[in-house]
Amino acid sequence: MKFRNFKMVDFVVYGRGCFNQLDEILTPRRKGSAPMIFLIDDFFKNNQLIKSSIPVRGNDLLIDLDVSHEPSTAYVDELAGLIKSQFGSVSGIIGIGGGSAMDMAKAVAIMMTNPGKAQDYQGWDLVKHPAVYKAGVPTLSGTGAEVSRTTVLTGPTRKLGMNSDFTPFDQIVLDAELIKDVPHNQRFYTGMDCFIHCVESLKGTFINEFSKTYGEKAQELCEHIFLHKDHWDEKSDEQLMMASYSGGMSIAYSQVGVAHAVSYGLGYLLGTRHGIGNCIVFNHLQDFYPEGVETFHKMVEKNNIDIPSGITRGLTDEQFDTMINVSLSMTPLWENALGTNWQKIMTRDRLKTLYEKL
Ligand code: NAD
Ligand code: ZN
Repeated sequence: MKFRNFKMVDFVVYGRGCFNQLDEILTPRRKGSAPMIFLIDDFFKNNQLIKSSIPVRGNDLLIDLDVSHEPSTAYVDELAGLIKSQFGSVSGIIGIGGGSAMDMAKAVAIMMTNPGKAQDYQGWDLVKHPAVYKAGVPTLSGTGAEVSRTTVLTGPTRKLGMNSDFTPFDQIVLDAELIKDVPHNQRFYTGMDCFIHCVESLKGTFINEFSKTYGEKAQELCEHIFLHKDHWDEKSDEQLMMASYSGGMSIAYSQVGVAHAVSYGLGYLLGTRHGIGNCIVFNHLQDFYPEGVETFHKMVEKNNIDIPSGITRGLTDEQFDTMINVSLSMTPLWENALGTNWQKIMTRDRLKTLYEKL
């Protein structure tokens, strides 16, 4: 038996207001006049409060990230190309935003030092050279992208991460003050991404005590804030932030499962966003995760959320085939969910029936 040797995030600062320490954290990482590039979620485009606390020095550059679509390899190439042509080398890439901004920062940092195109590195352990210094400041909690060793990208032929030891951040800044104004629905969808990570990890065949320890804690936190607490407060933000971190740590040493495998097909074909896509799928997974789905239904009701339905209505056979192909190519996810025999359990027909329900 060979055990995986995981590269994790090097430094973590946690605490309400710790974003103000970013300057002090970045100063020793600056290489002469090479700039820090801040990639900031364009949700904050006109937020002077946040923007003025970003430690922009010398010829640093602040780029508003367009996250109206989830990250694509083309957008990563565009930004990496722009930064390289303008500066040659940089001191680091700092991502500020939701999971999409986290993934953009990780991917752009990788493309600063690796030749070719981002699509060349979609897969497992294809990245050849260490990235430039990179730091992540999440402003939405749930994806676990702040701790993971992947960056999920839609490429010309697939939706797949750059999964490598060079992908995790060197530094993350966990400041719950930054997530306090997330709208109710968005908070729920991204929060449920975390809950679903936990269920898929804990009920998967890859589970071990490492993943179980983090997964159980994260699931307990999600249920506490989305089901048992009667109002949302500052502590809820802090708990959701730590649930996201722990959920990410849980899947680092296990894997996600059916909801993610099916939702990737929706994301690829229809552009359905990760959090909401997982909710749309998980809503129908009682055969695979009976207890998790029952709890999920209670959380949906308690939080007054409408989970969209009918999104695959009217699609052609060819379009269903595309989603099925994308989904079935996620071998590790299916193997974790259903075991080595998964192809006998999740046939194309069964998967099509599931897609038709969504
Ligand atoms: P997101 O980053 O796509 O953002 C969703 C929306 O919320 C955007 O409109 C954004 O502008 C807005 N937003 C961000 N911060 C906000 C704030 N503080 N207040 C209000 N609005 C805010 O959403 P997400 O659910 O965090 O991330 C989904 C992305 O993460 C997908 O691209 C998915 O593939 C990726 N992901 C990555 C991993 C990983 O391990 N790398 C894991 C899960 C998901
Ligand atoms: Zn997820």
